[in-house]
Amino acid sequence: MRLSTIQQDRAIGAILGSAAGDALGAPYEFQPSIGPDAPVTMRAGGPWGLGEWTDDTSMALPILWALAEGRSLEEEATLDRIVATWADWARDAKDVGIQTRQVLATARTAADARAATRALHADTGRTAGNGSLMRTGPVALGYLDAPDAVLAVVARRLSDLTHADPEAGDGCVLWSLAIRRAILDGALDLRAGLTQLPAARRELWAGRIDEAEARMPWEFTNNGWVVAAMQAAWSAIVHAEGLEERLAMAVRAGDDTDTVAAIAGSLAGAAEGASAVPGEWRRELHGWAGEATGTAQGLEAWAASAVASGGEQSGSARC
Ligand SMILES: [Mg+2]
Repeated sequence: MRLSTIQQDRAIGAILGSAAGDALGAPYEFQPSIGPDAPVTMRAGGPWGLGEWTDDTSMALPILWALAEGRSLEEEATLDRIVATWADWARDAKDVGIQTRQVLATARTAADARAATRALHADTGRTAGNGSLMRTGPVALGYLDAPDAVLAVVARRLSDLTHADPEAGDGCVLWSLAIRRAILDGALDLRAGLTQLPAARRELWAGRIDEAEARMPWEFTNNGWVVAAMQAAWSAIVHAEGLEERLAMAVRAGDDTDTVAAIAGSLAGAAEGASAVPGEWRRELHGWAGEATGTAQGLEAWAASAVASGGEQSGSARC
């Protein structure tokens, strides 16, 4: 798909904004909210270096790479490759979410992963963590001109690899459609995707969006749950102006700060563009990128390739 310069900047912003939120939030993770006005700065903390991204960005990268290579996320072979890359990453990663770790411990293929998360769901009924929403940012980049229903199906399939609960898939559908809308016309509209959810759950999600707009990010405790994480991220976006302040607001949610900020950053970055990411953050951003060296420049280049390959997504994948 041919994008204008500003649309191109916004598409790259979905990736860079998410990585920036991830790195900004990492040192604040697993602590209570620091309060509504506390300063939030890009710094080192815990096991994380200054500007270092975490699992949120690391797990988004194999999806972004598949798109950058012109692969279709509708192909099972592409999903197999993504799961295998996640499994390689998870072996040495400093942080892997609980549900994701359980699924990836044995899975080498997409079918293995789906079977593992379904078994976990049958055992515990708890597979609605925020770990698929945190990595959904790249999906829209490959489907900028696809029908809404196609993007919705693909976003859910990616979520279903590790999170069997349909709540996690619902969150990814809403967020991916909102990211695409933001890239294409700069609008922030989370409700537009409601029509792509199963009819029985639309009203529930519409109420959750209303609730997010009525409350502040730190009022959504339990943000390891996909619903609360999305509400906190959306609350941060609607209650602040500008990418830096939106990401700071997301970090102030406390608890799973890097993930809430990574989620907020994928959508806020899509609306505001890569050019809204401060230069000093861009210089420090780094993290796991497989065999490559992970930098902001790398993220930008992969995002640009994913968009350039986007037109090839329907049936002409080079798998
Ligand atoms: Mg993380």
